[in-house]
Amino acid sequence: MMKMERTPPPDFLRKHCRVWGREFAERREENPKYRFQWKSCEGRKVNEKLGEEFGSHCAFCDGYPLGGFSHKTIEHFRPKSQYPRLAYTWPNLFPCCNVCQNAKGEKFDRKLLKPDTKDYRFDRYFVLNYKTGKIEVSPSAGRTEQERAEITIEMYGLNRFGRPRSRLVEWKKYQGVSEEDLCIDDFSYRFFL
Ligand SMILES: [Zn+2]
Repeated sequence: MMKMERTPPPDFLRKHCRVWGREFAERREENPKYRFQWKSCEGRKVNEKLGEEFGSHCAFCDGYPLGGFSHKTIEHFRPKSQYPRLAYTWPNLFPCCNVCQNAKGEKFDRKLLKPDTKDYRFDRYFVLNYKTGKIEVSPSAGRTEQERAEITIEMYGLNRFGRPRSRLVEWKKYQGVSEEDLCIDDFSYRFFL
């Protein structure tokens, strides 16, 4: 999970997110099965803006390119079922691959790490194991940080679905590229390289 800088929301979300969130929350209250949907083309616009902002990487596993190696989705960090009023709120939305999104589903924990938080840094919470390809909890982190790292690894399945192996493959690929052709943003799992 790379650190990310969040830019201001698109105008149409800034203007409408509260009203749309309230409407969605009211509909869900009337009918708990009411399904979330974007208004006409807004979903596409949000997807594009998130893609630009995060460089087509999944905000959680850093898989790249979204839409190429996996389906591109919009992740609600605080799930719609528990926080319907935040369903259209920009800081709650992340570009995400379908693997991370399916792993997390509607789960949430307040200790879950959020990649656009001011003080988030990968090495504050995690270390890498170059033998196994796994992300591990940093042994030098404090207890709270360790707990947060553990929850994040588990909830997004960061060491499942063949990901440790994929990281090792990506690492090898990265080492084989000459310096003048090297662009780290063209790789998945940048924290591993
Ligand atoms: Zn992902």
